[in-house]
Amino acid sequence: MPVETELYELLGVSFDATEDDIKKAYRKKAREHHPDKNINDPEAGQKFQEMAAAYEILIDGNKRAAYDAGGMDGVTGRGGVPGMDPSDMFAHMFTHFGFDFGPEMRGGGRRGGEDSIIPHSVTLEDLYNGKSIKMNMEKEVLCSVCKGSGARGNAKPKPCATCSGNGWTYAQSRVSPGTFHRTKVQCTDCKGHGEKLKDKDRCKKCKGEKTIKEKTRQEIFVEKGMKDRQRIPGVPAGDVIFVLHALPHDSFERSGDDLLAHVTITLSEALLGFSRIILKHLDGRGVKLASPPGKIIKPQDSIILRGEGMPIHRRPTDKGDLYVIFDIEMPDQNWLKTVDVKALEALLPAKRPDMDPLPETVDEADFEESDVVDFGEGEDDWEDDDSDDEYHHHMHDDYDDEPDCRPQ
Ligand SMILES: [Zn+2]
Ligand SMILES: [Zn+2]
Repeated sequence: MPVETELYELLGVSFDATEDDIKKAYRKKAREHHPDKNINDPEAGQKFQEMAAAYEILIDGNKRAAYDAGGMDGVTGRGGVPGMDPSDMFAHMFTHFGFDFGPEMRGGGRRGGEDSIIPHSVTLEDLYNGKSIKMNMEKEVLCSVCKGSGARGNAKPKPCATCSGNGWTYAQSRVSPGTFHRTKVQCTDCKGHGEKLKDKDRCKKCKGEKTIKEKTRQEIFVEKGMKDRQRIPGVPAGDVIFVLHALPHDSFERSGDDLLAHVTITLSEALLGFSRIILKHLDGRGVKLASPPGKIIKPQDSIILRGEGMPIHRRPTDKGDLYVIFDIEMPDQNWLKTVDVKALEALLPAKRPDMDPLPETVDEADFEESDVVDFGEGEDDWEDDDSDDEYHHHMHDDYDDEPDCRPQ
């Protein structure tokens, strides 16, 4: 357990949360606590910043390890500061990590420390061969006509009539019969800003929205050997970070720089050997392999093809290894009809004799084909409504008007 837990608590995640858990939790919290949505909470900005800072630390493996081992002092590299106020710590963190939450946070624009992170799926072929991917995207930019004011010419917003310029109104909710609770809610008319432009005073281009959506072209360069969940900046840089999501592959499984593939050989290949192209690699090359003479290959035997794994990132001429597991295909029914079974029996190793000594009792069983997914089907299950009739009936006989409430 870490020496301090505050950052984990801020994001509401457990100490063993994965990178994904942290990302999800942060996105959810950031949405909830965004200052634009919590206009009536003077501390919203502070909370939002704290969460962003917590995220920056926990998402970075090195910083997270430093935090787990030594708390905030471990991260900032400070010596022990007894009784330091947590808000001072955060103030210190912001200067340390260069967060800048200025007024540009409103109305789009770039938010300090909060690049948009966009998942991008890539195939294993893309990661093996490298690839450049161009895509069209939309980004929100300040309106160039009104320079982000949302107003036409020099028009100024007027105080909102609905909320008398407060940005909030009272809402009544019924807590229990006869008891009402008054809460402040954001004014829907001015969206909490307290002032509003008249329709005719709005900027024509952005319709008073202050930002417009601009089409941009982004390019990402997937380098040979990059990994699942690797982050790469888009080009032109600045707005978007892509996080690679490696799609599963039909033939190859990847672990680090190594690959693993199953290769199916026939029964005669398993017994008598083979020399042929056993697989097509991720760059389209055939890989030819000969088994050593006199070698019998058993089901699930594995071999290693050195240097046939994934290219190593940033030095792609070096490669990991390829592990091959052999699956053996048995001949089918029709083949058996075409051969002299007696001759085959004479060629194959002898059948296994009966048990010796014989058990005292021996029962004859029937050979019935099955599907192993049915294994354990008859087992009683508490959660299955129909499977335990006795208990069910008992409940209903005694408590006719009660809902069915059984232990789960
Ligand atoms: Zn405008
Ligand atoms: Zn209003």
